[in-house]
Amino acid sequence: MAIERRDLEPRDVNIEILYCGICHSDVHKVRNDWGNTHFPVVPGHEIVGRVASRGARVTGFHEGDLVGVGCIVNSCRACPECRAGHEMFCREGVTFSFDSFDKKREEWTAGGYSTSIVVDERYVLRIPKRLDPARAAPLMCAGITTYSPLRRFACKPGDEVAVVGLGGLGHLAVKLAASMGAHVTVLSTSRAKEQDARRLGAKRFVDAREPGALDAEAGRFDLIVDTVSGPHDLDRQANLLRSFGTMVLVGLPPSGAPVDVSGLVHGNKGVAGSNIGGISETQEMLNHCGKNGIMADVEIIRAGQINAAYQRIDQGDVHYRFVIDAATFRS
Ligand code: NAP
Ligand code: ZN
Ligand code: ZN
Repeated sequence: MAIERRDLEPRDVNIEILYCGICHSDVHKVRNDWGNTHFPVVPGHEIVGRVASRGARVTGFHEGDLVGVGCIVNSCRACPECRAGHEMFCREGVTFSFDSFDKKREEWTAGGYSTSIVVDERYVLRIPKRLDPARAAPLMCAGITTYSPLRRFACKPGDEVAVVGLGGLGHLAVKLAASMGAHVTVLSTSRAKEQDARRLGAKRFVDAREPGALDAEAGRFDLIVDTVSGPHDLDRQANLLRSFGTMVLVGLPPSGAPVDVSGLVHGNKGVAGSNIGGISETQEMLNHCGKNGIMADVEIIRAGQINAAYQRIDQGDVHYRFVIDAATFRS
């Protein structure tokens, strides 16, 4: 399918895409799990590439720079949310990199499963030199989505942090929480991932399917980061929090699940949601990853393997992010 990218406006950067990660949100969108997909859809919001050309008034980037684009490609820039760096909650409506109606241009955006993209420089991120481009791509969504709540809930050395679901988001949550000094436990439905969990930086692994295993964790965690993409029991998970602990939900299963209020009240526990992160926090996350050598574990695939990758994602068979080599969209 041919995608038309707009002509360069003065502050636009034209990026030759090198790699694009496959996030489970791409899968949800393609399957219309959330009931809001506008077809045809071109997914992809974990983009890394090189600046191929730039508009006359671009000041921050030069031809050849290694750059990233995540979920956000435009917003009003003037509302309180934009000014606070929370562009994803722009009161005028954020424009996402794919399947989002671009009001200014009156067209639907097309994402990173493509060879190039044109983005205003305000929404373009700098990839630190130390990071490998393919392994940095997943940081653009999975990285910021897990970094942001860890920072918001002040993850610090010695904290007991549980990461639920060891997929794309989960494996970066483990690396990031460990880099902040937390004592990380992975709660997984896949026993086979235990060794990987430890290699990624977890100190403990709990097989959530084993009878009684979760009950034994009751009252342990300061913070639970739930990255699960499918339906599961949130109430049982909230029971694993210690008093004043928080369970933060980043996974977006197609349907919700009940949580018992009295369990939260008796223990001053919190349940929170977290949606990606703003542009400046994304740069902060990339710099943190550059400093600490944090990158995704990836399986690089060709364009022709995307459907097979989606099937493997359905089966939880991801180690731990599929990344598309964008050059293969040309061949
Ligand atoms: P992923 O790579 O497919 O990983 C999800 C993991 O969840 C699986 O590997 C599996 O881990 C576990 N899982 C799946 N179904 C389950 C079920 N029914 N019960 C229990 N565990 C289950 O997906 P991802 O790309 O990390 O994305 C995860 C979720 O976050 C998706 O819903 C996605 O849409 C959402 N998301 C949200 C944001 C945001 O801004 N909040 C951003 C990006 C993605 P185990 O094998 O270890 O159990
Ligand atoms: Zn995503
Ligand atoms: Zn705004």
